[in-house]
Amino acid sequence: MTLSEETKQKCREMLLEMHRDLVNEVKANRQSNSSRDYLGDLCDFAASVMEAEYVYMIGARLRQRLYMIKEALNAIENGDYGICAECGEPINEKRLLLMPFTLLCVRCQSEIERQVNIRGQLAA
Ligand SMILES: [Zn+2]
Repeated sequence: MTLSEETKQKCREMLLEMHRDLVNEVKANRQSNSSRDYLGDLCDFAASVMEAEYVYMIGARLRQRLYMIKEALNAIENGDYGICAECGEPINEKRLLLMPFTLLCVRCQSEIERQVNIRGQLAA
């Protein structure tokens, strides 16, 4: 079963919109970060370090999302959108419309999450 052109177009539009929102969010983060005065007293310094770490964390999350969205848009261009990057099986159309940036089918996604959980438990 291949994806209909209509679904692909819908996903593409959603991805482009998400991409725009994310870029705006990244810009907003950067502005609030750089507008801070780092030459305050020690307390301010500690607070700004924590904030910088926070902004960095948020930044990593945003970068990851941006990466996934770009990969998905690339896949639409290349015509292999909607195919699981892990097992090569088609991804459920409803899942794509819900999460157009997903690169994995439900099965592979939950398998990876399961492995992350196991690793998390071992590390604890
Ligand atoms: Zn899969």
